[in-house]
Parts: sequence; structure tokens; C-alpha cells
Amino acid sequence: MRYISTRGQAPALNFEDVLLAGLASDGGLYVPENLPRFSQEEIASWAGLPYHELAFNVMRPFVTGSISDADFKAILKDTYGVFAHSAVAPLRQLDSNEWVLELFHGPTLAFKDFALQLLGRLLDHFLIKRGERVVIMGATSGDTGSAAIEGCRRCENVDIFILHPHNRVSEVQRRQMTTIAGDNIHNIAIEGNFDDCQEMVKASFADQGFLKGTRLVAVNSINWARIMAQIVYYFHAALQLGGPARSMAFSVPTGNFGDIFAGYLARNMGLPISQLIVATNRNDILHRFMSGNRYDKDTLHPSLSPSMDIMVSSNFERLLFDLHGRNGALVAELLDSFKQTGKLSVEDDRWTEARKLFDSLAVDDEGTCATIAEVYRDCGELLDPHTAIGVRAARECRRSMSTPMITLGTAHPVKFPEAVRKAAVGEEPHLPAHLADLFERPERCTVLANELPAVQAFVAAHGNRGKPL
Ligand SMILES: *Cc1c(COP(=O)(O)O)cnc(C)c1O
Repeated sequence: MRYISTRGQAPALNFEDVLLAGLASDGGLYVPENLPRFSQEEIASWAGLPYHELAFNVMRPFVTGSISDADFKAILKDTYGVFAHSAVAPLRQLDSNEWVLELFHGPTLAFKDFALQLLGRLLDHFLIKRGERVVIMGATSGDTGSAAIEGCRRCENVDIFILHPHNRVSEVQRRQMTTIAGDNIHNIAIEGNFDDCQEMVKASFADQGFLKGTRLVAVNSINWARIMAQIVYYFHAALQLGGPARSMAFSVPTGNFGDIFAGYLARNMGLPISQLIVATNRNDILHRFMSGNRYDKDTLHPSLSPSMDIMVSSNFERLLFDLHGRNGALVAELLDSFKQTGKLSVEDDRWTEARKLFDSLAVDDEGTCATIAEVYRDCGELLDPHTAIGVRAARECRRSMSTPMITLGTAHPVKFPEAVRKAAVGEEPHLPAHLADLFERPERCTVLANELPAVQAFVAAHGNRGKPL
């Protein structure tokens, strides 16, 4: 499989190089040159497979030429073997024909484990083969950091540096990062906010001289491998509920548009999906696009669902590419003008095309808490605030009562106790058994000033399993 850039100017790469590349050299994002398409008979024949075997069938076309079937199978078995539920992604019924797909049974209790557990193992596979080491640098406001650290902790040839804003992530989220021991794991608390962290990571990618020849790898959802891994659970859910013989609707708590874009790809690969709902919090740039063709940058509003607090959605560019007939020059032009003006809209017929599949809703903190309370009252399930936003949107935007509606359950409620407390349901979420001693584990973290040279010097001094590069 070859991958091309959404801006049309970078060289096409194979899977291995895309995994290591991050952004394309023209500033675009990599997408498959040709999407594989499965027949209904083929999809139907996968019913009842264990998760890792289904994952192999769905992802195999994306990696052929870069990794052998036997190696890929072994990696997938190992990846999804660490999940705490043997169904890996179980469905929980909320109401007649309405479900939550629980994607929070991985090591860090959020859906990002599905992709980052795989990404860590794939990186290790290719790096050992190449005899190379890499450095991962990422900024996190919570979930990505812990999932990336858990995913890469056992990688021989990877050192991982995760920047988070000092004293501005929840205690559970911080402990999920700082309690993982390993001489290749480095937590840096920056005396600044999340944007400061992200800017430092961006600047480091743009000028990697301080790494003395070691390459930086991206773990945010611009990395194609993350999107790829997320396609699988759409197939998994549909097969549990009578797909592909009947179509499904999905509601997806959305920030950077990675998770829902995977659903869009699943549909284009042949899975009957009749509706995809973009569920956002007050940071609703995607809702404003879907409802009124206005993708306009706004200020950031901190919310009870912090993993969806974004101003722009990095993966939206991948959808724009398809909406513009995969014309990279047009996409580059649109995004250049967006960079200048902070505003973007597309031609009417392209927007109408998107609206055939996508609906959207923005839910504020009050609506989030009300939904947590409503679902707890009606069926005893405690939702996390992100999932609650998905459920609210599913209920308000649903086109057909006879089509199964599946909300992606993106995180375990124990990660976001503040929202659950505000919903006042009278129950506290509890840590699952494998994390029960989280508050007793020792923490490791370095606090650094909000200064790029200090951070880069720290990386250079510790980037080789704690030793200088
Ligand atoms: C990352 C995250 C999201 C948003 O996913 P995107 O792929 O960025 O749209 C939603 N909910 C939770 C809990 C997350 O961690």
C-alpha cells in the first residue's frame, strides 16, 4: 500500500515510512492512495472472530509490503491481549436499539489505547529491523500522554518525552503518566499551559538539530497508524449487531476528528454505515461546519470534557481532501487561506455531499451532566463526560429508530470524576482492579520552565535511555 499527502506535493511513501514520518514534507497528512474495499460476503464471513483476528483482516491491506502476515498477526494478538475485557470492545445496551461501544478497557482507560498499544509494537518491530532509535515527543492535556507512554514503555528503541502543563491535568491523568517506570520514559511538567507544550513540540519537529541525528516520531492522531487501528472497532460493533446485513449509525465524541474519520473510512471500505454524528462540547468548530458550512476558528473554552477541548481539528484536512476530489492543490489553497483568515467554508455541493452522512451537535457542560444523570437514572450506567456528549447527540440527531445507534464510549468515568460529581448521581466511579493502587504508586516527573531551550537540552541529555544522545 502506498500513501499520499493531502496537499499533493510530498513523495508517496509505504506504510513503514508513513508510520515514522508524522506530517508529510508539504505540511499535509498521509492517506492511503487507494482505500481497500470489502464485499458484503467477505465482511459477513468475519462474524464471531476474536478482536485481533478481525483486526488482521481489516488492516492487512494497509500494511502489505511492509510487514509479513505472521509478524502482523503476532503483534495484533499481543496488542489486544493486554485489554482487561476479553471481548476487547464490548457493547453495552442503554435503550431499545441503542448501545455504547466500550473502548475503555485498555491499560489507560480511554480509546487511545487501541491505536497506541499497536503503534508502540509496530515502531519496535520496524526500528529493531532497521537498527535505529527514535525519540517520541508529544504534548498532552491528558489521555494521549498516558496512552502513548503505556504503548511505548517496552519499546527497545524508543525514548518517549511527554510534556503536560504543570498542575493543569487531573490527578488520575497525571498519575497514569508519572507512575510508569522505565529509563526510556520521561514526563516533563511545563510551567505553562497546554498550548505552550504543543508549541514546543511543534517547534522541535520543525527544527530537529538538537537531536543530533535522531529522528522524532509523532504520536498524535496525524499519525496514520492511529486512524488505521480505529477503523477496526466499527466493523467489530457492526458485526455484533447484525451487520453487514443491516446498516448502523454511530455517534462519536469528537475533538481532532481522528476517531470519527476512522468510521468514515470503515464506511468507504464497504461497511454499511448510514449516519455518523459528530458530537462536540462547547469547542464546536466541527459542529459549526457540519450545521452551517462555517469552519471558523474560535477561542478555547475549557470544559468538563477536556479531551475534546480544541480550537481546530487536525484530521479534518483528511475529509477535506476527499470532499475536493482528492485534489491536493485545492486543499493546500484552502488551508493556506484558513491560516491567514481563521475561516473556511467549502462549495455548496461539497458540503451537501458531507451532510448525506454526517450530522452534528454541540453539548455544553450542563447538557453533559444532565445526560450522565439521565443515563444513570434510566439504566444504571455511569458515563464519562465525553461519552455522555456522544449519547446526547445520538439521541437528538438520530435519523432512524430502526437503525442500531452506537455511541463510542471513549473513556472510563473514573478518569473524569469532576463531571460525574457535578452530575450528582450519588455514586463515585471506581478504579478498575488493574489500577486500584494508582494513588500509592511512586511518581516520576521533571518540572521545567516554559522555555524551549531548557526542554530541548533535557531531551538531548536523556534521549538515549536516560543518557545523552
Ligand atoms: C481523544 C479523545 C476524544 C477525541 O477524539 P478525536 O479522535 O481527537 O476526535 C474523545 N474522548 C476522549 C475520552 C478522548 O481521549
